[in-house]
Amino acid sequence: MYRTHNCGALRMEHVGQEVTLSGWVQTVRDKGFMMWIDLRDRYGVTQLLFNEEVSSKELLEAARSVGREFVIKITGKVIERSSKNDKIPTGNIEIEVSQFEILNASQTPPFTIEDESDGGDDLRMKYRYLDIRRNPVKEKLMFRSKLALETRKHLIGTDFVEIETPFLIKSTPEGARDFVVPSRMNPGQFYALPQSPQTFKQILMVGGMDKYFQIVKCFRDEDLRADRQPEFTQIDCEMAFVTQEDILNTFEGLTKHLFKTMLDMDMEDFPRMDYDEAMSRYGSDKPDIRFGMEFVELTEEAKGKGFPVFDDAEMVVGICAPGQASEYSNKDIKKLTEWMQRPQIGVKGMINVKYNADGTIKSSVDKFYDEAQLKTWLAKFDAKPGDMLLILCGETDKTRKQLNELRLEMGNRMGLRDNSVFKPLWVVDFPLLEWDEDSNRFHAMHHPFTSPKKADVERMLNGDHETMKALRADAYDLVINGVEIGGGSIRIHDRALQEKNFKLLGFTDEEAEDQFGFLMGAFEYGAPPHGGIAFGFDRLCSVMNGTHSIRDFIAFPKNNQGRDVMIDAPSKIHDEQYDELYLKSTAAEKVVE
Ligand code: ASP
Repeated sequence: MYRTHNCGALRMEHVGQEVTLSGWVQTVRDKGFMMWIDLRDRYGVTQLLFNEEVSSKELLEAARSVGREFVIKITGKVIERSSKNDKIPTGNIEIEVSQFEILNASQTPPFTIEDESDGGDDLRMKYRYLDIRRNPVKEKLMFRSKLALETRKHLIGTDFVEIETPFLIKSTPEGARDFVVPSRMNPGQFYALPQSPQTFKQILMVGGMDKYFQIVKCFRDEDLRADRQPEFTQIDCEMAFVTQEDILNTFEGLTKHLFKTMLDMDMEDFPRMDYDEAMSRYGSDKPDIRFGMEFVELTEEAKGKGFPVFDDAEMVVGICAPGQASEYSNKDIKKLTEWMQRPQIGVKGMINVKYNADGTIKSSVDKFYDEAQLKTWLAKFDAKPGDMLLILCGETDKTRKQLNELRLEMGNRMGLRDNSVFKPLWVVDFPLLEWDEDSNRFHAMHHPFTSPKKADVERMLNGDHETMKALRADAYDLVINGVEIGGGSIRIHDRALQEKNFKLLGFTDEEAEDQFGFLMGAFEYGAPPHGGIAFGFDRLCSVMNGTHSIRDFIAFPKNNQGRDVMIDAPSKIHDEQYDELYLKSTAAEKVVE
């Protein structure tokens, strides 16, 4: 037997009992005639006491040979500790060891297995098994497991059915590149790994499954960032006979359940905001509404006063940073402006107006605007003495995007983005299509299966090019603290409308039929109205824990180059594999013959 208890279980009530424990050596403290070892496993840490009298000299000597991360098994008596440790649940007791066995030795680990490790990211990823022994990593993986369980409990408890869909599929265009897998049995042909189970879940609705969900891996060959991985997990859902309203309510219910059971938090009803409003108030379709500093447009007030920069601009828009007038010297403003001028954001300049605490007004455009004019600006922002306006101008969409970055940065600097506060928001009524100047064509804002709003169907079927730009979709995102947690839509379930959408997106009839004939075919056999949503599961884990890195919640994540540095993947394959998969020209030619 390896253990009677785990390393987190023993308390005062066990004093006097003989127990057996197994685990890893966390620390060794040697006082000569006495020695202590902290023994660790997933459940906690228990202090072991080796002393000459009880444990015998030989045993003490043997115990002396262990080092950090050795795996040992001990038997001994639970005794009360003379100096207690109230920081750990087992801190009142220790084990007086009478038997001891080394189950496996360990090399000295390349970094410390402590809550704060001295190991850098790459090192910890290479030795991920050691990293996982650390509390913060272990706890995150356990959080994830519980979040999945609570998701299943809630969804299955409300009549959803969990159904698996295939990983070897045909590519669905969802905006990213596919990972492809060569088919040995079908020379020269490839599967794609799913970017999402989108078409399958729609087919399940045609199949009458009514409420589907799946906690599922998705694969997208995109450039990586802290909150992106080439393979990631979604809570993927679809429902039949539903309106947008039904879906928002259902998944608001799921989200509330998860916050309640995981964080013991009661959430109020989620506010909703349409896309246009989000863009004009925050310059983002995923606004962080934990703090204000909303956009105020000054275009009318600012133009026509002889300041050429504003006069030439399509839009003049700014934010009011409360209490910041005295916090920013000219030098600080210059630095902030330089930060905004980096290529990632790319403003040309930035205007500031300081409403000093003593009531005086100082701006970087004093030459063009007198005090009375600046006062009308301040009034528009509802600014108070002590506040500072930061103003940008230029082409509308671009300027809003830039100001969004500034607002978020100011929110960070001013400590307004508190990670223990959660502010969900439904963003609704997204445009159906997005015109792309570069490729001179429409892109689906969500994906090609998204339905226009009922009121827009007629215009979509019969309208002209300009009309298409204004079509609205029954598409929605769930945003929490400025992070897109989920997104979905009501789907097209009618063949003619789906054909029209593919056409608008630049598919020829043949391409549409070739790629999605199966779906449009299914629509001809009694497809019910349906819609759904997918939550980014890794992201939900990280946001609920107040961090941005989804990697921490993935047992074996990839690095920024998309590599798994532990198993060293991706890797080369053997020549025979090339041949077998018809990837080499010689093999491919043979098949063609
Ligand atoms: N398949 C979509 C996505 O992955 C979600 C949805 O529309 O349900 O973003």
